[in-house]
Amino acid sequence: MITTEKLYDYYLKNPVISTDTRNITLGCIFFALKGDLFNANEFAAQAIEKGAAYAIIDEEKYAVNAQCLLVENVLGTLQDLARHHRKQLNIPVIGLTGSNGKTTSKELVNAVLAERYKTFATFGNLNNHIGVPLSILSITNDVQIAVIEMGANHQKEIELLCTIAQPTHGIITNVGMAHLDGFGGFEGVKKGKAELYAYLKKTNGYTFINRDNANLLEMSAVAGLSKLIYYGTENGNTIKGELKSSDPFIEVHWTNHEVSSSVKTNLTGSYNFENILAAICIGDFFDMSPEEINTGLSSYQPKNNRSQLTKTEKNTVICDFYNANPSSMAAALKNISVISADKKTAILGDMLELGPESPGQHELIAKQAAKSGLDQIIFIGKDFFHYKNNVKGIFFETPAEAATFLQENPVQNHLVLLKGSRGMKLENLLQYL
Ligand code: ATP
Ligand code: MG
Repeated sequence: MITTEKLYDYYLKNPVISTDTRNITLGCIFFALKGDLFNANEFAAQAIEKGAAYAIIDEEKYAVNAQCLLVENVLGTLQDLARHHRKQLNIPVIGLTGSNGKTTSKELVNAVLAERYKTFATFGNLNNHIGVPLSILSITNDVQIAVIEMGANHQKEIELLCTIAQPTHGIITNVGMAHLDGFGGFEGVKKGKAELYAYLKKTNGYTFINRDNANLLEMSAVAGLSKLIYYGTENGNTIKGELKSSDPFIEVHWTNHEVSSSVKTNLTGSYNFENILAAICIGDFFDMSPEEINTGLSSYQPKNNRSQLTKTEKNTVICDFYNANPSSMAAALKNISVISADKKTAILGDMLELGPESPGQHELIAKQAAKSGLDQIIFIGKDFFHYKNNVKGIFFETPAEAATFLQENPVQNHLVLLKGSRGMKLENLLQYL
């Protein structure tokens, strides 16, 4: 069986990894991963035919020629290769996790740091046990700082991702009501996310922390962290910030002990204030000037259906349908209630993966929505549907029924919040808005 060192020699000759035969490039290394519904070992021959230099497989019967390299476990080999590559890179790696705002914070941190440094940041949302090793293996030798998003929906996942990304610096954006099912409730979420703090403690890394967040302070104390850099709204933080406006775009006034400055962003949603402060804090830590930091922030344009304000022919839509959980839903409702608009509609889809807490959380959000001063609320999904007799609003069990309703009853000249879990696919409703 091939060793990690030997495989690394191959990788150095052509450092391109593929896990999908649709994206094979000449000379790449194909990793034949397995999922619940597929076994990519079956595609090893095809990958080689298409030009892969090697196919890493873990079932001998698919070894069609010498380019098929048999290993014990393909996923484990991918992770080992990433660990090995990370060790060769002598650069700061910022590990970023949290319940909400990881991708947004990662994008903002990257936008800031890229004003001064050659950076690498996780592509899109590639933040899991496959995405993190692929991200690490995409870091080239000229990169000076990397920002790696780490996602988790169960215990020990962040611990594993830390052994791969080996962060020298870390940040937990927040802890909230996300993936309650897999983590085993909110205390479980805190425990799971705190695995990043435990890693930073063990390796003497730096931690950026929002001092306004009591949960994070408690978790950092439990972990015994000492190399802490604080941001927040109070005096005494390395970065002190104030939310100047969130109607509709976020404007932040901030100071770093020496200089005060203000920045206007293209993000909507007051919850982005903390994401922006985190990016300022990290830029400041890496010796960037306020001008560089502000340029990075003000030039960032969200394009990923997170906190994105879009003007359609009929309405202004807050496109936030990338995902939803009770914390982000509550934040989005608070946001739409403070933005000025003549008429407001919220279209809310079910929040998935909440386990036994799901009914209670859907009821809470439905009630909060009803109190948010909106002209119309449309609830979509089986979970919200249970409350159709208790809460004022229009209820549909499926997005298709809501689509028909929107065609027959067009919403016009409204500020519309469109938000639900990924599985609800609310993006399909945008065409009717
Ligand atoms: P995922 O777990 O899917 O990777 P994420 O943590 O990367 O999500 P983002 O993709 O940045 O999070 O944002 C998803 C949604 O969460 C946003 O559209 C917004 O509604 C909400 N959100 C973003 N930042 C915060 C925050 N700091 N607090 C609460 N909600 C937030
Ligand atoms: Mg993300």
